[in-house]
Amino acid sequence: MTTPPRIDLNRLLGRLDAFNRIGALPGGGNCRLALSDEDRAGRDLLVRWMRDLGLAVTVDAIGNIIGVRGGGEDVAPVMFGSHIDTVGTGGRYDGLYGVLAGLETCEALNDAGRATRRPLALVAFTNEEGSRFPPYAMGSLIYVGGLALEDAYAIRGIDGATVGEELRRIGYVGAASPGFLTPHAYLELHIEQGPILESEGVVIGAVEGITGLSWAEVAITGRAAHAGTTPMHLRRDAACAAGEIAVFVRRLAQAIGGHQKGTVGRIELYPNLVNVVAERAVLTIDLRNTDESLLQDAERQLAGFLDRLAAQEQVAIATRSLARFAPVSFPTEIPRWCRSSKRRRASLRSPAVGSRPVPATTRR
Ligand SMILES: [Zn+2]
Repeated sequence: MTTPPRIDLNRLLGRLDAFNRIGALPGGGNCRLALSDEDRAGRDLLVRWMRDLGLAVTVDAIGNIIGVRGGGEDVAPVMFGSHIDTVGTGGRYDGLYGVLAGLETCEALNDAGRATRRPLALVAFTNEEGSRFPPYAMGSLIYVGGLALEDAYAIRGIDGATVGEELRRIGYVGAASPGFLTPHAYLELHIEQGPILESEGVVIGAVEGITGLSWAEVAITGRAAHAGTTPMHLRRDAACAAGEIAVFVRRLAQAIGGHQKGTVGRIELYPNLVNVVAERAVLTIDLRNTDESLLQDAERQLAGFLDRLAAQEQVAIATRSLARFAPVSFPTEIPRWCRSSKRRRASLRSPAVGSRPVPATTRR
């Protein structure tokens, strides 16, 4: 008789603790920027754990790590996983939870002596966060053919190094070509990126799609001037224009409402001195919406504002797109299976929780 697979929560939490010692920050949280030394240490640990469980590990040419647990039939695998890189001040669970929960699933199946019909392919995608090298989701984007490998290798990060150089430096340029394994389905367990489930007291949600995203870098050129002797009306102040853009982006998102988000997350000023009117400012704008036409509307309104601002502040404004993805709707079966599986499991313990509808949320 076979025993049903059982997830060992303590084992999963133990792995999360052990992994999170890599890149741990003093006040809590983690920093494992893509292709950094910390990312390499995390990769090494993950590969070791995958091999310990008998997974066949392959690294592809963009450094995606895929561990396959063989199935009963030679058919397309079910792929699952997430990422192990973090933003500069990442949480303990973002990405890592999805990968380590997948690892725990494989171990639980091993312990129970269970074979699956389809192979299971556990994946950790390279540079999901994009904090060091834009765009985010680089490894998965290349995996599905949305970005050419050579173009990705040439991308220069915030510290000047390129993706290709850093991938080679940490030893994760694999021989396999990205996309070598075509999955039957892909499933990702991920901590909620926002506060909604927690504030509503719901333990899990089934994601129906991915929010569309538009990232731009805006460079403003004004004129450096002495802060004491230059009259206000004769200034061409790049810092002031940058501030106006940050305020506009916030008001734009509020005015469109609904799922529209707008963020200015980075502003750099030159020469960045207390008594000099800034000659140049470079900032980033992140616009997102689940509705493509509303996202385009936000982009249009922003472009119109930048034109007016340039004239008004007597500065030159140049815009460069860093990433642009249209919203995506997932096939409906997987969210439906997540819902029904969650209800079944929850009803074993608590009928009250099981009967509660699972809200659909959108990721990112
Ligand atoms: Zn994530």
